[in-house]
Amino acid sequence: LYVDHPLGQGQTVSLDRDQAHYLFGVMRLGEGDLVALFNGREGEFPARVVEAGKRKGVLECLEQSRPLHMPPDLWLCFAPIKKARTDFIVEKAAEMGAALIQPMSTEFTNSERIRRDRLQAHAVEAAEQCGGTYVPEVVDLMRMDKLLDAWPEDRQIMFCDETLVGAAETLSAASGHRWAIFIGPEGGFSDRERARLHAMENAHPVSLGPRILRADTAAVAAMTMWQQVLGD
Ligand code: SAM
Repeated sequence: LYVDHPLGQGQTVSLDRDQAHYLFGVMRLGEGDLVALFNGREGEFPARVVEAGKRKGVLECLEQSRPLHMPPDLWLCFAPIKKARTDFIVEKAAEMGAALIQPMSTEFTNSERIRRDRLQAHAVEAAEQCGGTYVPEVVDLMRMDKLLDAWPEDRQIMFCDETLVGAAETLSAASGHRWAIFIGPEGGFSDRERARLHAMENAHPVSLGPRILRADTAAVAAMTMWQQVLGD
């Protein structure tokens, strides 16, 4: 269970209404039962239920069971699409171990608005579901051009370019760098945006295979390819 609370042996943690409902109403846990807690910063701690109420609860942490496992330094930068598909991308990015999730608007972006808190909640759920101890941060939507204006020199870009469909350009870069994956919207990147990325020394244009993938599929395929070549 994710809690936004400091954790440590002997630390007590108060649950909010939703968490109490989930643990005691849905999961049927009661006093004395154990729950694995993480907060995305301090690893995992088993905690004993010391008070189980309908709307609240208190847990007490035992000795740490797992240290914090930081994912590799990978950002997923993608243009938001329809709500459910954007949710999917965030969920999969958290499962695949992205360190940061950057929604970005491009010339052909379908949706200029995101609910950051909602996407962050999806990332938390996905981390809970896959037993992670880290939760990637979902940052505010930013224009791609603005993002590139201040792009850190030492961060490489895996630029998924749909116009290379079927080309041989797959990822073959050296590890040990910081990375970001760039995925365009349903309409793809504009010619200007593609030219800008192609002109950047630290951007590596790649093909994701012989067919044009939907943006949500492309995000998962790109993260898998990155993991295979450069992940830990
Ligand atoms: N509207 C575009 C077209 O018809 O050419 C397709 C855009 S695609 C649905 C959305 C994004 O997924 C692209 O901008 C790209 O980043 C990525 N993508 C999809 N298929 C790809 C492929 N085969 N190789 C590289 N990137 C791909």
